[in-house]
Amino acid sequence: MNCNKGKHSMLDTITFDSGKKGPIFLVLGGVHGNEKCGTHAIGRAIMELRSGIFSLTSGKVVFVPICNPEAYRLNQRYYEVNLNRVVKKHEMASLYEQIIANELTGIIDTCDIMLDLHSYSSGVKPFLFVEYGTPEELAFAKAMRIENWVTGWNALYHDKKELWEGDTCTYAFDKGKLALLIECGQHDDPAAAQVGYRSIRLALAHFGLTGAFAADDEPPAPQVCKLHSVHVKRASGKLVKPWQHLDTVKKGTPVAQYDDGETLSSPVDGIIVMPVANAKVGEEWIFFGVPEAA
Ligand SMILES: [Zn+2]
Repeated sequence: MNCNKGKHSMLDTITFDSGKKGPIFLVLGGVHGNEKCGTHAIGRAIMELRSGIFSLTSGKVVFVPICNPEAYRLNQRYYEVNLNRVVKKHEMASLYEQIIANELTGIIDTCDIMLDLHSYSSGVKPFLFVEYGTPEELAFAKAMRIENWVTGWNALYHDKKELWEGDTCTYAFDKGKLALLIECGQHDDPAAAQVGYRSIRLALAHFGLTGAFAADDEPPAPQVCKLHSVHVKRASGKLVKPWQHLDTVKKGTPVAQYDDGETLSSPVDGIIVMPVANAKVGEEWIFFGVPEAA
């Protein structure tokens, strides 16, 4: 098995090639600079591949351990703009993340399947996003053995061009790839890196790049939450309590309070999704979702 360390102008890639036919599998970490679990998970996978703890039996795997190096160094979500809202080819790239997006999309173009590892602010359980409902996407998601799924991202963002120009998975799917984004756990939870590592191993096994990876638990029945709406913070204010991802709320329950007096209430009987207590003005503050049959 060959291992090549590539250096694009801003992004490091590490590639392992089995020398046999098979898919090109891409793993991303650190798309958001304060989300270290993917980088840690990738680091472990690289060391284990190099030391022969496991090996590829077909195809190639390409790792990008840190997709946003400047934000990673500063331990913040992004440097100038949220990378995972500007993933497209920018003809006139000027912002740091636009330049990164041009490189990252070039890397995604060369792969067949992508796994993008993230973490989130407030909550305990890992979850993943499914969007298209194709048999291949659902099989990929099921193979991850993660109970909580979130859907409806594209429907929520497709008319919000001021917030979103593209993300890793949407870009990959638009290019005919198969892709999955996993939120491995809370940013500072060491268990998130373990979820990320396990997801890499389960995915490589699922697509036949390695032998079987023995997971020690039963695959859970998915609990699907469909996104209903997103609230962007428009001024200074506070969440009324330390909401956790997957908390349930009744319609009309106050969830956040602006300093100018306006109260934000839940628009549905549903579920709090990815609340960000310290969101900046102009950023996503809280999402609402509703349970959906799997
Ligand atoms: Zn993220």
